[in-house]
Amino acid sequence: MRNLVIILGDQLTLDNPALQAFDPSQDHIVMAEVMQESTHVWSHRQRITLFLSAMRHFAEALQARHFPLTYFKLESHDYPDLAAVWRAMLQQHQPEAVRVCEPGDWRVLQALQATAREHHVALDVPQDTHYMCSIPQFQRWAEQQKGSSLRMENFYRGMRKKYKLLMKGDAPAGGEWNYDKQNREHLGKEGPQNLKPSPRFAPDALTQAVIALVKKRFPDHPGKLDEFPWPVKRAQALKLLSHFIAEKLPQFGTYQDAMWQDSPYLWHSLLASALNLKLLNPREVIAAAEQAYQQGQAPLASVEGFIRQVLGWREFVRGVYWLEMPALKSANYFKHERDLPAWFWTGQTQMQCLSQCIGQTLETGYAHHIQRLMVIGLFSTLAELSPQQVADWFLAVYVDAVEWVELPNVAGMALYANGGRFTSKPYVASGAYIKRMSNYCANCRYDPTLKAGEAACPFTTLYWAFLIKHETLLAGNQRTRLMVQHVGKMTASEQSAIKAFASQRLKQIQQL
Ligand code: FAD
Ligand code: SF4
Repeated sequence: MRNLVIILGDQLTLDNPALQAFDPSQDHIVMAEVMQESTHVWSHRQRITLFLSAMRHFAEALQARHFPLTYFKLESHDYPDLAAVWRAMLQQHQPEAVRVCEPGDWRVLQALQATAREHHVALDVPQDTHYMCSIPQFQRWAEQQKGSSLRMENFYRGMRKKYKLLMKGDAPAGGEWNYDKQNREHLGKEGPQNLKPSPRFAPDALTQAVIALVKKRFPDHPGKLDEFPWPVKRAQALKLLSHFIAEKLPQFGTYQDAMWQDSPYLWHSLLASALNLKLLNPREVIAAAEQAYQQGQAPLASVEGFIRQVLGWREFVRGVYWLEMPALKSANYFKHERDLPAWFWTGQTQMQCLSQCIGQTLETGYAHHIQRLMVIGLFSTLAELSPQQVADWFLAVYVDAVEWVELPNVAGMALYANGGRFTSKPYVASGAYIKRMSNYCANCRYDPTLKAGEAACPFTTLYWAFLIKHETLLAGNQRTRLMVQHVGKMTASEQSAIKAFASQRLKQIQQL
């Protein structure tokens, strides 16, 4: 055998660079489902189903093209992890080289390198051309940045220029680079109007078999499987994309940050899992959005807001992940050590916002960005939860969760665990923010306007305690200086009353 080509579970595209120059007479593909990938964090059953079903559908596509493939189904072998499968394949086939497209996870790259070393076989890792900024390109960009901070906005502008997206000559379309200020509307009193639900995909026979397997092999894992609506094939992902462009993109920007009880999806695209599995290419997603703007079907603020997420944030966090690993995994700037409350795994808390966001996560494997950042992530920071436990939870519970995108968002953006290397400030707010952006507080036993007392919103109490504790840090930052001005005006006894009440709240965190 010439090349043993490894295809990982989130590399499900025929454009996979490891398949370039593939010769069926000399090369062989291996794909494997292994227990460790579903158990190294306590994975949601929708997430496990998504990966296994999408992998099996992709294997069918390879077989239809008569590519020689060995596919290890979870139920038909005892290899505990990917390295054990690779070792067995190397022993059996003795290839000249192993070829694998850059993996998404640092952990998997280490395992590949160790296995190749152990077997004295050449390891060829071509760059992942799915992304619009390669790892070396990002590293070069990062080296050119002044100071130690990396800013998404600067990166994003460079990417807009490079790919000539939403540009008019050298200037941004409409005169502004960023329409974020128009992306923060709440839903008023009426809630979402004229919302057209995204298409959902009924499981075919293959997916049904995977659902049965997951129910049997992972009976105690979180997440329901009564319904499984996620795209597992490229054709389904394309259908989801065209529905989003036609029906949701025009409103996407306006209500990007809004939340509403029992409306988990709003105008969000639900495309992250399809993108992360590589069923979709970011270029085609961005081109479809830009075309909607050019043809007058969606306003600039919405299209720019969406393109900023895919071309800006998604590429940026990948670059940051590879720059900061493995340190990012153990980063803990504030030295927060508290264990996750048990209700992170049940959603049974009296805090309506968390009950909604965690409840829907456990039900569907989905929450949108602001629910992750400004409800679950915010509480985690204010309650001083261990960043490692929070990151493991986020990696476990979302259908789109893969470490290269999850970890920078959790440790870097939500928890400020790496000390603001690529965020301009800790994302902290009181219950007033959640009240403004949702209707959760109307149905909650707590009151977001109160700092202390039995009816006080835990977010508000903990927010003020956070400001008091980190006054010096926040006062030294342009973007948070105003926030802590009020702390300076509080008397010492007011401050100690808030601190005492916050610490009492945290002692009772399981009952909140
Ligand atoms: P939309 O709101 O429709 O956004 C469009 C697309 O933009 C998304 O599909 C996604 O590909 C991209 N995008 C948007 N925001 C980000 C971002 N901050 N970073 C990277 N890409 C972004 N995204 C994941 O794909 N996997 C994760 O594991 C993940 N974990 C997160 C954890 C936290 C704490 C936070 C704050 C964000 C996380 N995100 C993650 C980013 C974002 O929340 C999800 O991509 C988004 O909610 C997925 O829903 P959607 O496809 O409907 O996105
Ligand atoms: Fe959440 Fe506080 Fe509002 Fe209750 S009052 S929903 S805990 S922000």
